[in-house]
Amino acid sequence: MIPVQRRKTVPVDVGGVVIGGTAAIVVQSMTNTDTADATSTFEQSRLLADAGSEIVRVTVNHDAAARAVPEIVARLRDAGYGTPIVGDFHYNGHLLLTEHPDAAAALAKLRINPGNVGTKHRDANFQKIIRVAIEHDKPVRIGVNWGSLDQRLLTELMDANAKSAEPKDAQAVLMDALVESALRSAELAEETGLGHDRIVLSTKVSSVRDLVIVYRMLAGRSDYPLHLGLTEAGLGNKGIVATTAALAPLLLEGIGDTIRVSLTPRPEGDRAEEVRVARQILQSLGLRHFEPQVTACPGCGRTTSTFFQEMAEDITSYIREMMPIWKRHYPGVEEMDVAVMGCVVNGPGESKQANIGISLPGTFEEPSAPVYIDGEHAVTLRGAGLVGEFKEILLDYVRRTYGPEAGAEAEATAASPSR
Ligand code: SF4
Repeated sequence: MIPVQRRKTVPVDVGGVVIGGTAAIVVQSMTNTDTADATSTFEQSRLLADAGSEIVRVTVNHDAAARAVPEIVARLRDAGYGTPIVGDFHYNGHLLLTEHPDAAAALAKLRINPGNVGTKHRDANFQKIIRVAIEHDKPVRIGVNWGSLDQRLLTELMDANAKSAEPKDAQAVLMDALVESALRSAELAEETGLGHDRIVLSTKVSSVRDLVIVYRMLAGRSDYPLHLGLTEAGLGNKGIVATTAALAPLLLEGIGDTIRVSLTPRPEGDRAEEVRVARQILQSLGLRHFEPQVTACPGCGRTTSTFFQEMAEDITSYIREMMPIWKRHYPGVEEMDVAVMGCVVNGPGESKQANIGISLPGTFEEPSAPVYIDGEHAVTLRGAGLVGEFKEILLDYVRRTYGPEAGAEAEATAASPSR
């Protein structure tokens, strides 16, 4: 795989998690509980962290929410979670942060939307938040959003554009305004005394194509690390596909140091889905490895039974179940590729590309399943115990390739697959 050349950025330490520089692209998420309800927010933050969110953001929208922040963070630390908690501020951040210094101290980063810090006293309110960040030694994310763009700035750029010899269309000026808002705010933050290495930027929009354009512009004009996300991505498949379509080209160009997938969960839905999608985007692009990948063909008329789909699912579940143990004892196992293929057409070829692969028999093929290890045919399996035997081979491969370490054998053996 051709490596991606990451854009050069200044690393920003967010409560022990580094965004930018040479650090891995960070997965983050946001709670949707009432922050004033410390128990629910603690529980959801824990759920998000368990799913792999390396930073969790909570809204801090009123006094009760600000009062709950220290308790949420303390409960997470008591439960053994070091996950940095970021506060999201709009309209009254300058008041909340000055009136609740404990909240400012407990948060690992402050998110400021420069379009939502007031109109008349916009710069003064913004600077108040920056001074709190400086006092508590916290980084900030200057998060511009097209839905709450600073209207004064937009008007200024629209007026200038109207007077120019070659006026741009309104959408292009809007893109310029998003970038300008982020960069001018960063400049003001630095003039106020915040370190250059304490600033992360984002300019979120909800259109896939506009997002790619605006981040390319932003990336070309500074070395601040960038937080990527398609705002209001939406529900289910639409949200997942749109976010992936927007983030993938940027990430492959080396743009983006932390990502958040803004999915709208269904009522009672699982908030952690956004974390799983974010991780899968990074893993599919080969930018990070979180767990072994199972490559399976889609099946077709050559596979009239559901056996191979069931086996692909079974192997995927088995790997997921084993990963907590494997991760501890077999470093590097998350980079393993496993192939479960439906017939001889692409089965052997794809299996040879994987670390370990099996090519199942399609309809009318001889009922045998060759297994390939590191590109070589290793064994051919037959009969009802085939899935269990393949799991044993897989476990043996993991032990031989990524371990073993002291203590690993006993634990891994105890969790051996049953046939
Ligand atoms: S590998 Fe075989 S079963 Fe799978 S999609 Fe291709 S032709 Fe169909």
